[in-house]
Amino acid sequence: FEWERVKPAICPKVNDPIFPQLFINNEWHISSKGRTFPTVNPATGVKICDIQEADKADVDKAVEAAKAAGERSAPWRKMDVSSRGRLLHKLADLIERDRVFLATLETMDTGKPFLQSFFIDLDGSIKTLRYYAGWTDKIHGKTMPVDDSFMSFTKHEPVGVCGAIIPWNFPLLMFMWKMAPALSCGNTVIIKPAEQTPLTALHVGALIKEAGFPPGVVNILPGFGPLAGAALASHMDVDKVAFTGSTAVGQLIKETAARSNLKRVTLELGGKNPCIVFADSDLRLAVEETQKGAFYNQGQCCTAASRVFVEESVYEEFVRLSVASAKSLVTGDPLDPRTSHGPQIDRKQFDKIMQLIESGKKEGALLECGGRAVDDTGLFIQPTVFSGVKDHMRIAKEEIFGPVQCIFSFKCLPEVIDRANSTKYGLVAAVFTKDMDRALSVSSALEAGTVWVNCYNALHAQTPFGGYKMSGNGRELGEYALAEYTEVKAITIKLSNNL
Ligand code: ADP
Repeated sequence: FEWERVKPAICPKVNDPIFPQLFINNEWHISSKGRTFPTVNPATGVKICDIQEADKADVDKAVEAAKAAGERSAPWRKMDVSSRGRLLHKLADLIERDRVFLATLETMDTGKPFLQSFFIDLDGSIKTLRYYAGWTDKIHGKTMPVDDSFMSFTKHEPVGVCGAIIPWNFPLLMFMWKMAPALSCGNTVIIKPAEQTPLTALHVGALIKEAGFPPGVVNILPGFGPLAGAALASHMDVDKVAFTGSTAVGQLIKETAARSNLKRVTLELGGKNPCIVFADSDLRLAVEETQKGAFYNQGQCCTAASRVFVEESVYEEFVRLSVASAKSLVTGDPLDPRTSHGPQIDRKQFDKIMQLIESGKKEGALLECGGRAVDDTGLFIQPTVFSGVKDHMRIAKEEIFGPVQCIFSFKCLPEVIDRANSTKYGLVAAVFTKDMDRALSVSSALEAGTVWVNCYNALHAQTPFGGYKMSGNGRELGEYALAEYTEVKAITIKLSNNL
């Protein structure tokens, strides 16, 4: 495989435009305070470019634009619902056209391997847009049989101005998970990408304009959480905020929303996700899927398979196969299609992960492989496997958000269900067994918004996603997400002819 020959086709050329400004009202703006911040390639430590930093005044400007674009008389609200769907399809077409460039930008900004950006992030983004493009003319209410001489029916109306605060682990995909249903339902949106990874969202700004969305329908404000993010969450004219990120910030956002105007809030937060591997499972499949769950995106996933419970009789074999599999991951230049393991996003995350690895060693877990930085200067961490992990250890309880797989053993079914559920989180879970009866009983008993059976990270635009307990509020994707982006209006008519 000749990487040097393929590389020029993938890497951005000097003339490919990178958009570093704020996108408001379909125009590019510089920051009101004139401040910028650098975005850095985590694989090399090299700055890609400086980005305009949104301030509170810029948030005000974007909210004004989004509010005006959503007025009853504005083109966006008067547009035929089917035309709204065509616009979303047009945007999907443009993202498909720029797919290689967007995947490259995503890889440069996040460090995730190129093939993952291309096949997972871009594929998911395009499919999410197309799925919600199909919903625009199918969002409708009901008629209700009511007492006495009345008739009642409901209409589903847009919520209004929707803020979206996006994390750095899936910058484009999380943007689409929020923007696509919001637009499908006729809302206007303001997106604040994570400060580490603003590039793909800003490129989509250019595509929004090219697709022909009316000005103000989508606005993109790169900036920092405590400033631009908090200004969105506390704004009196923002009607809803959708957030994906840490549980601590999710709590802050809900508090801010309540104290300002009680805006609607949906949250997609952390996880400490259990996988249960029974002795009768296809062990190679279980190893492959749980490792994909642990190491995918360098472990920087809210869905990370961070607690793997393996039935005692196959435990040793499972650990042996997992170590061999972890060692086969290829660390290197994320733009090289042969690479399967990239760097962590930044020094702060890197340090936190290394500290948790140290705590695992100190508390007596067995370090089977990895556990170290790949070199002295970079942000790459070796895929790490711990066996003999006990429930009280920090690595068993805290979200690591790094390439660390923790393997536990279990004896019997009631025991493992209790242990799997004994966490404040409840995002996803997985069960591996050939016995479908047991798979269904275990799925019912697990406290999680998603349960995967004999698979992992199987996400689809059609299937709702969200957390129980402190993993979040509300659901993204599928028909369920439409409820998060609509207000229900009941209209009741008095009937005078009671025939
Ligand atoms: P992480 O700790 O992994 O960086 P965060 O939850 O801090 O995750 O970040 C997710 C998103 O939330 C980012 O876009 C970030 O800028 C934003 N954010 C961080 N702090 C706040 C805050 N106080 N208010 C609103 N948004 C915030």
